[in-house]
Amino acid sequence: MTANKNNQNKKPVVLCFSGHDPSGGAGIQADIEAISAQGVHAATVITALTCQDTNQVLNFEPVDAGKLQQQAEVLLKDMQVDAIKIGMTADTKIIQAIHNILKQQPDIPVIFDPVLASGGGDALSNNELIDAMNTYLLPFCQLITPNIPEVLKLTKTQGHSADDINKAARTLLGKGTEYVLVTGTHADSAIIEHNLYHTQATVQSFQNSRLPYEYHGSGCTLASSIAAFVAKGSDTNKAIQLGLDYTFQSLQQAHAPGHGQWLPGRLFELTKD
Ligand code: PLP
Repeated sequence: MTANKNNQNKKPVVLCFSGHDPSGGAGIQADIEAISAQGVHAATVITALTCQDTNQVLNFEPVDAGKLQQQAEVLLKDMQVDAIKIGMTADTKIIQAIHNILKQQPDIPVIFDPVLASGGGDALSNNELIDAMNTYLLPFCQLITPNIPEVLKLTKTQGHSADDINKAARTLLGKGTEYVLVTGTHADSAIIEHNLYHTQATVQSFQNSRLPYEYHGSGCTLASSIAAFVAKGSDTNKAIQLGLDYTFQSLQQAHAPGHGQWLPGRLFELTKD
C-alpha cells in the first residue's frame, strides 16, 4: 500500500525497548500511556515478559535477541523515529541487539532508564548486565535517568553519601552519556530533589513535594514522557521539566487496583470532566 501523501495528522514517533509488566503499572504499557498522553506515537519492541503483580516480580524471560533486532530494523525502515526510549533490558544478548540498532541510528536521541530493580525492589539485573549497559548503551545516550540506588549500582560505588552520588553520576558522564538525571525519590526527605548532570556544567536541581504512596512505574513514566517531549522538539532541560511535571500529575492521579504499589494515572486528561 502507498503512503498517505497528505499526512496532516502525522505525529512524532518514539521507539521503545521495554519489558511487559502484566499489572499495567510499569514497562511497555507505562511507555505507551505516557507517550500517547503527549500526542506522540509509541512504536514498541518488547525486551522481556515478566510475571509480577503490584507487590513483586516473580520471574522474567527475555525475548529472542535476533527477533528483537529484526523488529526494530523493520520499523526503522518504515517510520521516521524521533527518539528512542530504553527501559528493562533483561539480558546481555538484548543489550547487544539494541547496541546494533543504536550504531545504525547515531542521530536519533536515546533516553535510557536503566532498570535494575522493580519498584518493589526485586532484582531485574546482575553485574554482567551492568557492565554491558556501561559498554554498549551509555556511549549512545543523550540522557539516562537512574534513581539513587541505580546510579550507585551502575558504577559499583560502595558508599551512598551525596559525594558518592555526585562522583558516580560524573563517572557515568565519562562513559559517554551526555546527561545524567539522578531521580531523588529514594532519598529520605519531604522535598524530592532530582539532580541533572551535564559534562562540565554545574548540577541543575528540579524539585517535587513527596506524595503519600509507593508507586509502580514512575521511572518508566518519567523516562518515556521525557522521550516524547524530546521527540516533539524540546531540548533536554525543557523535556525533563515537562516530563517531571507530567509524572507528578500522573502520580497525583494514581490508583490502587491491586494490593501493593499504586499505579500512575497517566491518562488523566482523558478522565477530566
Ligand atoms: N520495566 C518493567 C518491565 C518492570 O517490570 C519494571 C518494574 O517492575 C520496571 C520497568 C521499572 O519500574 P519503575 O518505573 O517502578 O522503576
